[in-house]
Amino acid sequence: MPISLYNSLSRRIEPFAPLDPNRVTVYLCGPTVYSYVHIGNARGPVVFDVLVRLLRRHYPQVVYARNITDVDDKINAAALEQGVPIGAITDRFTEAYRQDMATLGIAPPDIEPFATAHIGQIIAMIETLIAGGHAYAADGHVLFDVGSYPAYGALSGRDTDELIAGARVEVAPYKKNPTDFVLWKPSTPELPGWDSPWGRGRPGWHIECSAMSAAHLGETIDIHAGGVDLQFPHHENEIAQSTCAHGGKVFARWWLHNGMLTFDGRKMSKSLGNVLHVHQLLTRHPPEALRLLLLRGHYRQPLDWSDTAIAQSISTLDGWYRVLRELSHIELDAGRALPLPESVEAALSDDLNTPEALAELSLLADAARQTPSAANKAALLGAGALLGLLQDDPEAWFKQTGSTSVDAERVEALLEERRAARAARDFARADAIRNELTAMGVVIEDGAQGTRWSVVKH
Ligand SMILES: [Zn+2]
Repeated sequence: MPISLYNSLSRRIEPFAPLDPNRVTVYLCGPTVYSYVHIGNARGPVVFDVLVRLLRRHYPQVVYARNITDVDDKINAAALEQGVPIGAITDRFTEAYRQDMATLGIAPPDIEPFATAHIGQIIAMIETLIAGGHAYAADGHVLFDVGSYPAYGALSGRDTDELIAGARVEVAPYKKNPTDFVLWKPSTPELPGWDSPWGRGRPGWHIECSAMSAAHLGETIDIHAGGVDLQFPHHENEIAQSTCAHGGKVFARWWLHNGMLTFDGRKMSKSLGNVLHVHQLLTRHPPEALRLLLLRGHYRQPLDWSDTAIAQSISTLDGWYRVLRELSHIELDAGRALPLPESVEAALSDDLNTPEALAELSLLADAARQTPSAANKAALLGAGALLGLLQDDPEAWFKQTGSTSVDAERVEALLEERRAARAARDFARADAIRNELTAMGVVIEDGAQGTRWSVVKH
């Protein structure tokens, strides 16, 4: 089944065809590791994780790179504020990022390049740009000369003249043109820095992605992805640098951008106090509920995050896991790969239509509930696997506690006592135990197969 993707550069949905079907290359702009990331920063990694899973079904090798920006003024500021070395900040938040992404069910990228491990490549690329007349050194800085690249602005649809008119009034004196951007800047002794032909300094953010992408994936890559907030200037600058450094070769053949998150209809901001960190959300909610919420909207559209939406995602997953729990007696052949149902594949192949894929998954759950069979169970699990959902054991899902801590052994002991009380027709005692469990946030259901319990997650 062919895959079609919306290309931000052509502003059209195009059938996807990699340059080399034996080595598909994907680059996603990764985090700057100076604090925990907010939930908006997890949307791209979740969405493009699904894309990479889909691509891996089609092509023998997909090389997926997601970088770590470990040199940045925000990192320097955080280290200074906390009175710790810069490396302590970057190590801590790189590790937290990896853990949080893994908890969200995101497969690790094939390559996780660090900016500070590519200073040699960055300096070489800047030298090439200077030699080609696309960059100039001034006052310890090196700047990209936007005027040397007439196609500048093509991705974001901005006109260079408009950009100049809109540039800030206070323009750094070393810039020839207000839109020129920094490739290299000088470092004072207390800041991280590397020796370079332009003195001790550090790279600008944009050149890092251009250099790391070329170093690991080649001069022309198939897909470059990121949040729509990076389209300008970050991605525009990456295109300018890479194209000019590589003799006019196309940098990225497809540009994919995910929309932003709003929070109860508002933008997230520190001043509104609605910044939600993935790290904290994961202590309060089941990870799959957060992942499902991030996949509920089409990736190119904005997505609203709210407590109601989290509760809806939990309730949707409750329904699907209930079906799997009913089907727990049906064993699947462990040696056989799970199928990807055609309806789900068709939705995802159509510009990664995850809302449609989730609607199809619900239909598969209905079918499995109505006709409990190995084939229907495998289809439901196969659809879930590609979306990174339904990966928990159904019993474990219903006993997940989120932030409330429920002692499973205590629950089992109370249930045993309740069974004994009921057998002895001591209904007052049985009801009292039920009330005690309810107070603990435990819901019990008496059925033909005995008593089941689950934890209220919201
Ligand atoms: Zn980038």
